[in-house]
Amino acid sequence: MTKNFDAIVIGAGVIGISTAFHLAERGLKPVILERKEIGYGATGKSSGLVRMHYDLEVESRLAWESFQYFRDWSERVGGECGFRRTGFLHIETADHEVQLRKNVEMHQKIGIPASVISGGDVKKLAPHFKTDDIAFAAYEPESGYADPMLTANSLLAAAKDHGAIYVQDCEVSGSQSAGGKVTGLQTSRGSFSAPIIINAAGAWAGKVSELFGVSIPLGTWTHDVVHIRRPAQIADHLTVIDNSLNMYFRPDSGNLTLVALEDDSRLDEPAEKDLGYVAKDFVERAIDRICKRVPEMEQGSLHSSHVGRDSLTPDQRAIIGAAGPQGYFLATGFSGTGFKLSPAVGLCMSELILDGSAKTVDISGFDPMRFERGQHLKGENEYGSIWK
Ligand SMILES: Cc1cc2nc3c(=O)[nH]c(=O)nc-3n(C[C@H](O)[C@H](O)[C@H](O)COP(=O)(O)OP(=O)(O)OC[C@H]3O[C@@H](n4cnc5c(N)ncnc54)[C@H](O)[C@@H]3O)c2cc1C
Repeated sequence: MTKNFDAIVIGAGVIGISTAFHLAERGLKPVILERKEIGYGATGKSSGLVRMHYDLEVESRLAWESFQYFRDWSERVGGECGFRRTGFLHIETADHEVQLRKNVEMHQKIGIPASVISGGDVKKLAPHFKTDDIAFAAYEPESGYADPMLTANSLLAAAKDHGAIYVQDCEVSGSQSAGGKVTGLQTSRGSFSAPIIINAAGAWAGKVSELFGVSIPLGTWTHDVVHIRRPAQIADHLTVIDNSLNMYFRPDSGNLTLVALEDDSRLDEPAEKDLGYVAKDFVERAIDRICKRVPEMEQGSLHSSHVGRDSLTPDQRAIIGAAGPQGYFLATGFSGTGFKLSPAVGLCMSELILDGSAKTVDISGFDPMRFERGQHLKGENEYGSIWK
């Protein structure tokens, strides 16, 4: 028997669940269909950085709107997201100083607490860091990180409180439409019908989109992460993107530090490929880099490593919007940076679907069809690709 809903969300990652939460808050009854279980995709492996520093204004705006959810989670969503304010540092190469200063100006105009600080200021904030190669950095005192699985679970609980339904072990395998409009879909657990369908299937969203006759240029990004136990003298530290060393790192609970590299990811592996283990030599390379920035980490010890995979687009920016049959929407392609944007993306999706356009942030630039027109999104003062 076909089950009827106001909207169907494909995929229980943070993007799909946030969209369902915001739709349910507006009074719709959405169903979230998940092939495996909540957080099975990128969300469950995410490093959880929450910062607003981007070189593309619309991404900073989405991050800033989202940040206010992370900061005020219990009032705005309920439950916990595990947000921890550590302060955030963005270190750029010397040849990007002009771009960094202009980007921080852009962030300040949005209202984001951000400033450009000197190498001396970095040393005061991060006494354990080696700073003799740092002349300037962007600093966000309010930023930090959150727990992606806590975030996804509390969004799901809140969505259910508002009437959303969650079905796991339910793989979407076919679509139904009539008169140019979506009407429903087939799954491993029967048929579901709704006039609105949102494809938030992460790295698998390209394959899912084919079911609706819509091709999107979606690749994958497979990313290794290591956790190191810090030596006792480093009690805590900032969350950092260090583009001069192609690395990011942040503290984690249990005296751990999470480290990952920007030039060490595997691009366009098949979404179905087993995640397996981190690349050969990755752990050694990551430890070598963190010790370059934080030399006392040499006295730390290896804790664990893991692999995650996200969807990736040709301009490393998301695909958000309507495409193909009426009622079909995409929210995917987050290219390794979607966690921190997810609260606002879900809100903007609900506005797009219910009001015809997003009011909170103008997301029209993420149009799924921009690639066909050759219109790649580029930062106004760009640093280039994040993932090399
Ligand atoms: C290792 C790693 C570190 C990251 N670090 C950060 C970070 O620090 N900060 C940040 O902002 N972002 C980060 N990201 C990116 C961020 O985690 C992702 O952009 C975000 O989680 C994507 O969420 P999603 O909901 O789009 O996709 P996913 O979480 O991948 O969810 C998609 C879901 O769709 C389901 N699905 C697929 N096909 C079907 C089907 N046919 N039927 C039903 N369900 C289906 C999948 O099982 C999956 O659960 C990181 C990503 C990774 C992998």
